[in-house]
Amino acid sequence: MNKLKLDGDLSFHNIHHASKDFGNRYHFLPLAVLYPKSVSDISNLVSFIFQMGPTSELTVAPRGHGHSLEGQAQAPQGVVINMESLVKSQEMRFHIKDNTNTPFVDVSAGELWINILHESLKHGFAPKSWTDYLHLTVGGTLSNAGISGQAFRHGPQINNVNQLEVVTGTGEVVTCTEETNSDLFHGVLGGLGQFGIITRAHISLEPAPEMVKWIKVLYLDFDTFTKDQELLISSNSSFDYVEGFVLINRTGLLNNWRSSFKNKDPVRARQSVSEGKTIFCLEIAKYFKQEDVHTIDKVIL
Ligand SMILES: Cc1cc2nc3c(=O)[nH]c(=O)nc-3n(C[C@H](O)[C@H](O)[C@H](O)COP(=O)(O)OP(=O)(O)OC[C@H]3O[C@@H](n4cnc5c(N)ncnc54)[C@H](O)[C@@H]3O)c2cc1C
Repeated sequence: MNKLKLDGDLSFHNIHHASKDFGNRYHFLPLAVLYPKSVSDISNLVSFIFQMGPTSELTVAPRGHGHSLEGQAQAPQGVVINMESLVKSQEMRFHIKDNTNTPFVDVSAGELWINILHESLKHGFAPKSWTDYLHLTVGGTLSNAGISGQAFRHGPQINNVNQLEVVTGTGEVVTCTEETNSDLFHGVLGGLGQFGIITRAHISLEPAPEMVKWIKVLYLDFDTFTKDQELLISSNSSFDYVEGFVLINRTGLLNNWRSSFKNKDPVRARQSVSEGKTIFCLEIAKYFKQEDVHTIDKVIL
């Protein structure tokens, strides 16, 4: 068998973090963690393990930011690939002036969404579809779906990717789109790392909003809450962000919460919240331009 050639490190010692995740319920120690410096590192490792054949029983799991809840990014006695190490050697490439394509950014799959937001804003652009929490990797959310308040309009994040670079189960590096290698493209998106390892992705961008009016509305009645939500997401001239939450009323919830209630009306807020144990919340936002700052309240009403 050939020797494994790597630019990065395959560590048998720095492995303990790879047996933990956000859920903190499953703790499977891998045999080793690969800290790749190049896509070839990932391709060489997967190909090496593939050539060992099924009797080796070695499993491989790509790990993003480890925010899974049930050990999805763990590989018991296998090899975990630390995708965030790849970012150091892969810069973001913005394609926003090419009139033939919708604007996009070509990013490493180990990149955090928060970094993409900051870099995109420097160009006046932003990804179309988000998660609420942005300290997650591109590969991690594209392996699930990536859902937030823009999904009703643009679809989840997996609907807003034009091209992927993927290391397949045999170690081949393949570029795929809706038209080319489309089975792989659709298998990998939402595939929890079972159909290949995403190494780069082209993420669709749109001009970033100049200003945003952000509103939270509380409900005690579930039917009214869902009817309002359906109305908002089905109306064409509606808001740019609509997301519903169910909250369990806890002491101090309102004090710790960035509430939409005006300071002079805290009594009303406290009364309504204290009446029931479960609260429903619609979080909505409308994008607008600086010149509309004086009329935005009328538009919303
Ligand atoms: C606090 C918190 C807030 C969250 N908010 C949202 C939200 O608003 N919207 C939402 O949709 N989800 C949300 N999630 C869920 C989150 O999107 C998923 O758990 C996501 O997979 C985590 O990304 P990660 O980078 O931590 O991936 P990891 O947990 O490291 O990996 C997740 C899965 O993807 C696979 N994977 C990782 N990288 C790759 C890759 N490059 N190629 C192929 N497979 C890969 C792993 O093997 C694993 O199966 C949240 C989770 C937490 C803990």
